[in-house]
Amino acid sequence: MASRHYPLSIVIPIFNEEPALPALFRELEQACAMFLQPFGPVEIVLVNDGSKDRSWELIAAQCGRQTDWVGVNLSRNFGHQLALAAGLETARGDAVVSMDADLQDPPAVIVDMLAAHRQGYDVVYGTRKDRGQEPFTKRITARAFYFLIEKLSGVAIPRNTGDFRLLSRRTLTELARLHEAHRFLRGLVPWIGFPQTQVYYDRADRVAGETHYPFRKMLRLAFDGIASLSTKPLRLAYIFSLLLFAVFVGYIFYVLYDHFVRGGDLVPGWTSIMSAVTIFGTIQLLLLGVFGEYIGRIYEQAKNRPLYIIQEIKRTGGDPAPAAPKS
Ligand code: UDP
Ligand code: MG
Repeated sequence: MASRHYPLSIVIPIFNEEPALPALFRELEQACAMFLQPFGPVEIVLVNDGSKDRSWELIAAQCGRQTDWVGVNLSRNFGHQLALAAGLETARGDAVVSMDADLQDPPAVIVDMLAAHRQGYDVVYGTRKDRGQEPFTKRITARAFYFLIEKLSGVAIPRNTGDFRLLSRRTLTELARLHEAHRFLRGLVPWIGFPQTQVYYDRADRVAGETHYPFRKMLRLAFDGIASLSTKPLRLAYIFSLLLFAVFVGYIFYVLYDHFVRGGDLVPGWTSIMSAVTIFGTIQLLLLGVFGEYIGRIYEQAKNRPLYIIQEIKRTGGDPAPAAPKS
């Protein structure tokens, strides 16, 4: 296969996006034909993350028609972050832009990103000016999340940036060296360092379909983010035990005083015993949970499995050979 040189690749993870795909393809074709044209050939990498609808059929057909379009079919649903990783590792461009399939991130912004990249920035974040018609709960949880993760990790994460960003080739090389199974790219990219900047844009609403980030998944992503950047939750155990120690030393003094000085102990002590047992029980369970989360991650990491498995790669002119994942 003649390897073409691409100044730019666009990577899009796709999970059950059948209703959004026709508009996406049209938009991308237009972007490549119009404002991205001066930059040379653009490679488009579409990663199908185990969709249950006809997304892969549409992707495969599209990639069969268009040169420079690459379809990557993962063997099952690996989740947004890993699908993104698969796309980033497949992309061959000098700079790679990742975006959502739902056209919430307008391709026109890529021009600004490339301009910033030319000025020497390795990472260019697309930052939303406002969050469109997103529900109030999503805005609040997003804000709480950013606050928490910055406090815990000490890594400054640019606000209101999703996974719409440009990464330079050398950033991708470094990224490929971070073999984390529970990835949170939004935290890993600032961690890498390199000159970074932002471009601002208005975020549109989803063209079709529904968000794939219900509250449950957002919570998991949030903990992945925190755990991948910080071990501070573990230190909670230490702080809790110190606090409790202080409280209970005080309590023991009170009990002794009650017994010897006031001649108490008339009531069998049901209330105090029960509260002590419940408080201890709850806190221990909570901390065990936090430990468990970290141990689970250590276990996942120790297994050292590949991050994702590619079942098929579709490029124009056939070549459906499954590629060995680099990870
Ligand atoms: N996505 C994916 N795998 C998943 C969930 C989502 O590849 O398990 C893709 C999805 O198709 C979309 C992107 O990740 O292109 C972001 O998802 P979505 O737009 O639902 O998230 P939101 O923008 O609402 O946070
Ligand atoms: Mg979206």
